[in-house]
Amino acid sequence: MSHVHGGGDAPHQPNTDTASSDSDRRKFLKLAAGSGAIGLSSTFLASGSASAATAAAPTPVGAAFQKPFPVHGYAAKAQGSALTPFAFDRRAVGPNDVAIDIHYCGVCHSDIHTSHGDWGPSRYPLVTGHEITGKVVAVGSGVSNVRVGDRVGVGCMVDSCGHCHECSAGFEQYCEEGPMMTYGSEVPASVEPTGTTQGGYSTAVVVNKDFVIRVPDTVELAAAGPMMCAAVTVYSPLRHWSVRKGSKVGIVGMGGLGHLAVQMATAMGAEVTVFTTSPDKVADAKRFGAKEVVVNYDADKMKGLARTFDFILNTVPYKHDMDPLMATLKRDATICLVGIGKAPEPNQLGIFTTINKRNSFAGSMIGSIHETQEAVDFCDLHKIAPDVKLIRMAQINQVWADVVAKKARYRYVIDVKAA
Ligand SMILES: [Zn+2]
Ligand SMILES: [Zn+2]
Repeated sequence: MSHVHGGGDAPHQPNTDTASSDSDRRKFLKLAAGSGAIGLSSTFLASGSASAATAAAPTPVGAAFQKPFPVHGYAAKAQGSALTPFAFDRRAVGPNDVAIDIHYCGVCHSDIHTSHGDWGPSRYPLVTGHEITGKVVAVGSGVSNVRVGDRVGVGCMVDSCGHCHECSAGFEQYCEEGPMMTYGSEVPASVEPTGTTQGGYSTAVVVNKDFVIRVPDTVELAAAGPMMCAAVTVYSPLRHWSVRKGSKVGIVGMGGLGHLAVQMATAMGAEVTVFTTSPDKVADAKRFGAKEVVVNYDADKMKGLARTFDFILNTVPYKHDMDPLMATLKRDATICLVGIGKAPEPNQLGIFTTINKRNSFAGSMIGSIHETQEAVDFCDLHKIAPDVKLIRMAQINQVWADVVAKKARYRYVIDVKAA
């Protein structure tokens, strides 16, 4: 595997009480071995310093993780059905695996689209969620990049072929064999006992070590959730199209992705204009750093913005009129779409839209594992965080309805441990 990890040598939390954590570990392993239940891990983790392993000694995989182990989640049992409690197994922790006790999972529009079959048929039962954060509870013998107790996250992918042209170049998201997505990918039972990868609306997950993102101590786990998908999805194109000091950037749609894009582009030095359909988001857009806000393609403002932008990032996940936006691009500039609508309702461009100023219409899908780590570290460095509203798992159906009704301000995050 050629995956590169920016955080591979990040400092660990100082470990000052090895003796007591060793005893905690033994207690935990004994408990876990007796019950086979991962839920006990929280008792262990709550006891404090978890990074007990010394650098040289691999952490043994506890008995609870040497065979498939039970977890709880919320799943759609059929296309478009409400999410209901679902008990299933995660695979045994293999040599290159990391088991993570999930604390938080962000609610992404993709969860809803996938569950509703908007992008084509899905596999059921389906546990969605790919903005996962938590703590490592077990690692395989071949794992050295994270240790038990580390604060980590998992984004949209949990594996890829590792040897194709794209993977070799560090673009796992564009893997020629298709990356293994965090949920909904058909896999052998040895990978996920249900035969379908299952996401983060659940109590624990097991993933390949190269797909684990490190969460710095200075970033709250709840806030880090939406960084795993929303933040990297906007960070990757902002970087690819070289947004920098002095760039004039348009951000279209200010939801979960957009509100992070405004903050990140501003931190990169850009002058940001937000396009929104929600008048009540104007004040927030300015709070996130936007210089200007355009509501519902306000005609006067659109006229004044002709040939203004070096780059436009479009986060809207529904069909919408893009021609007016293209008119605000400078010559040769690009608009990049990261929002994905419904398959039967693709966006369309007028026949002259791209030729008038030699503009490009582009797309971008999430980001690589390396970029995901960069996005988290960038947020940490610039003190950028999503506006998060914590919810309980049992509220998920109402929350999905609220997301579709554009009520999110700006990211719902499931507090998996909340009763
Ligand atoms: Zn997502
Ligand atoms: Zn590949």
